[in-house]
Amino acid sequence: MATQIAGQYDTILILDFGSQYTHLIARRIREFGVYSELLACTTKIADLSFKPKGVILSGGPYSVYEAGSPHVDPAVWDLKVPVLGICYGLQEICHTRGGKVENCEKKEFGKAIITVQGESQLFQGLAKEISVWMSHGDQVTKVPEGFTTIASTHTAPFAAVEKAQDRIYGIQFHPEVTHSDLGKELLENFVVKICHAKSSWTMVVGAVSGGVDSTIAAKLMSMAIGDRFHAILVDNGVMRMNECAQSKVLLQEHLGINLTLADASELFLGRLKGVTNPEQKRKIIGNTFIEVFEAEAAKIEKEQEESGKGKIEFLLQGTLYPDVIESISFKGPSATIKTHHNVGGLLEDMKLKVIEPLRELFKDEVRELGSILKIDDELVWRHPFPGPGIAIRVLGEVTPSQVEIARKADYIYIEEIKKAGLYRKISQAYAALLPVKSVGVMGDNRTYEQVIALRAVETTDFMTADWFEMPYALLKKISSRIINEVDGVNRVVYDISSKPPATIEWE
Ligand code: GLN
Repeated sequence: MATQIAGQYDTILILDFGSQYTHLIARRIREFGVYSELLACTTKIADLSFKPKGVILSGGPYSVYEAGSPHVDPAVWDLKVPVLGICYGLQEICHTRGGKVENCEKKEFGKAIITVQGESQLFQGLAKEISVWMSHGDQVTKVPEGFTTIASTHTAPFAAVEKAQDRIYGIQFHPEVTHSDLGKELLENFVVKICHAKSSWTMVVGAVSGGVDSTIAAKLMSMAIGDRFHAILVDNGVMRMNECAQSKVLLQEHLGINLTLADASELFLGRLKGVTNPEQKRKIIGNTFIEVFEAEAAKIEKEQEESGKGKIEFLLQGTLYPDVIESISFKGPSATIKTHHNVGGLLEDMKLKVIEPLRELFKDEVRELGSILKIDDELVWRHPFPGPGIAIRVLGEVTPSQVEIARKADYIYIEEIKKAGLYRKISQAYAALLPVKSVGVMGDNRTYEQVIALRAVETTDFMTADWFEMPYALLKKISSRIINEVDGVNRVVYDISSKPPATIEWE
């Protein structure tokens, strides 16, 4: 039975003749975004609830010339859509259209090199010699009328044939297995160039921040659907030192995630100019974020559509179980202490459906999952970082120079905590820049500069937290480094408040 989906998207029909690899054909086709439907080889074309854009006849264990071997419904030719036969499929095409298939002396199992002849669309843009995977004991000895040979090996003269004007193709090898070089590209040629099937099998977008949750969610997504997942990293100008560049390397190079970096730092900082109210800062950042993310997603969608690929239909979110619990409590979400930075607004605007793979997990379980996925420890154990970033750690107006001061101080602070081996004992640590000036003396001169507040807390769930008992010697070292190395700071203080009544972040 065909599924409901088949009628909604351009669909390639795969008729299964029993090969062990048939499902891989569907898998490969899905990788480049086209929907395919796998049905039994005995399917009657008249019973189909949809018209396929093309048909693939799979391999199979039988011999076409044997009594009782399965055959394709001849009505398949009346569909007048392209047909590709793979192995048994090729033999079936040749056998039923007046060619000849015989048991051959030289069976081919495993690797073989095909030499491509002519200019067939099937091999367009591939190579002249391709290493492929074979698995057959029968072979075509005579091609039907009107067919030409487009590739051969030294034992199989008809390794690939076509009747271009009817868009019928047959190949003796298995492009669906990963051992065949360029197999996916060959299938893509058939599906996209010959069948003109649109990759309407939809895409997923998701925002990544370089933090644990979004990275793990993104990794899972890209493992599941590869390049059809597009991660977007928005540089809001208030991230930590080197954060964007480092996240890019990690996500793109180490984890192989399809990533777009949107540098919108000027836009964010421009909008934050003159704003001192913490809630207003959060709102500006949240809204600007949505705007930039949407624009970026729209760009990706446009590019993909132009290349025949599909629409974005899903949004990936790194929601954890505590977020879910909060929203189902009987009073609904509790009083807003701080507006949380999220992409909730996107759902209404873009009409996207949400995917939340981490929805049932607590933070420590997410970290465990990260370790199982072999994600770098450095990232798995990273302290949480708020969406509005350094903007809420620069108290008062957020200017590029203030951000720079907070960023440098924070970097030194975290570096020293790590060196002292305390990073994992602390749940969250950061430096905040206070908008007060105090008098100091440096090199016999009076200074009148700002204050850095160091915060470090211990907590399991971030709902309540206690301040961390930082060793004095370490505090001394950090304070002296910050004052010496960060221009604009002449005083460092350590925050000794618990949550409640204070909060973890200062704003
Ligand atoms: N049974 C056929 C053969 O041996 C087809 C094999 C296949 O499709 N892999 O040639």
